[in-house]
Amino acid sequence: MQKRPEIFTNKPSLAPLEDYTALLSDAWATGVLTHNGPLVQRLEKELSTHFSTTRLAAVTSGTMALQLALNALNLRGEVITSPFSWIATCSAIMWENCKPIFADIDSKTFNIDPKAIEEAITPKTVAIMPVHVFSNPCDVHAISEIAAHHNLSVIYDAAHAAFVNYRGRSILDFGDVSATSFHATKIFNCGEGGACVSSTAELHESIKRKRFFGHNAEREIVDLGCNGKMTELHAALGLANLKYIDATLNSRRSLYERYIHNLRDVEKLGFQVFDPESYNFSYMPIVCETSELMESISLALKQQSIYARRYFHPSLNKIPAIASSEPMPRAEELASKILCLPLYETLSEELVDRICEIIRTTASS
Ligand SMILES: *Cc1c(COP(=O)(O)O)cnc(C)c1O
Repeated sequence: MQKRPEIFTNKPSLAPLEDYTALLSDAWATGVLTHNGPLVQRLEKELSTHFSTTRLAAVTSGTMALQLALNALNLRGEVITSPFSWIATCSAIMWENCKPIFADIDSKTFNIDPKAIEEAITPKTVAIMPVHVFSNPCDVHAISEIAAHHNLSVIYDAAHAAFVNYRGRSILDFGDVSATSFHATKIFNCGEGGACVSSTAELHESIKRKRFFGHNAEREIVDLGCNGKMTELHAALGLANLKYIDATLNSRRSLYERYIHNLRDVEKLGFQVFDPESYNFSYMPIVCETSELMESISLALKQQSIYARRYFHPSLNKIPAIASSEPMPRAEELASKILCLPLYETLSEELVDRICEIIRTTASS
């Protein structure tokens, strides 16, 4: 019997290889591979047009974007953040010598709850780092009010949220800085990469200096920096992929809708609550009634070589390296019952239907 191909949760969206190699020929001719060369500049310009901003700086990763944002804001103290996120949200805070303080989430939106933020504020609080989970915009207005009232900086972890508009603006346009990711698994990818979108020219210039060893435009060292420069090779992949972003967004949305259509009447399942006009459909999370059901569904899929991911698990407050004594009941509960199903551009409708059948059968047994 022929072995079925393995199906993973993610597969990067990729432009035709010729598109990528055509862009590389300039780099081969000039020998310019990095130092914010012409391809990085072009990518920044094209992304700035998409996001209607003039203050976008491309960097090596979403994690680097978070760290540069914290560093440029010169923060020391407690940073209130979500326990329902990828480890990078929290580790970035710790690498920049701040202390993560968790505030629990809203179980419907999966995002940090503004009320919980307010309760977590102490005299040591310096910033809030909310996460637009699975691209669902946080309650940005409530968060900016809290921040203004307590004089706190806001850095959005917008790793999932490129190409999301909220009330007529890019969601990256909120906060002091929004940090996004162009990692292979994200909706738009450069293989590895990310960007900071800053609210002021001063922050933007600071981040540009810090990503390049602290150099100013005249190549004098004027700041303590690090190496966060995106390479020309990564920028070329981004430029190639960017041409197809509309097709990427449309195909993910239609597969997402097919999943929901197939699964919406399965009583033991729940779904993230969001406004479809402000969402990029880059993940397909389902919330099972119990963690046992989540395990059974995961196993039933695995037996067919389909690998769903427990994304995010565990709740960050439960990770030993960052353990916090405060329980986060809503994040912990969600983390114990959530499963992200395969969702990527080249996934077939037949496969979506087969995955849904396996889930439906498991949920009704
Ligand atoms: C992917 C991700 C990051 C980190 O981005 P990298 O580009 O992989 O460094 C940070 N936060 C969240 C929520 C993510 O999903």
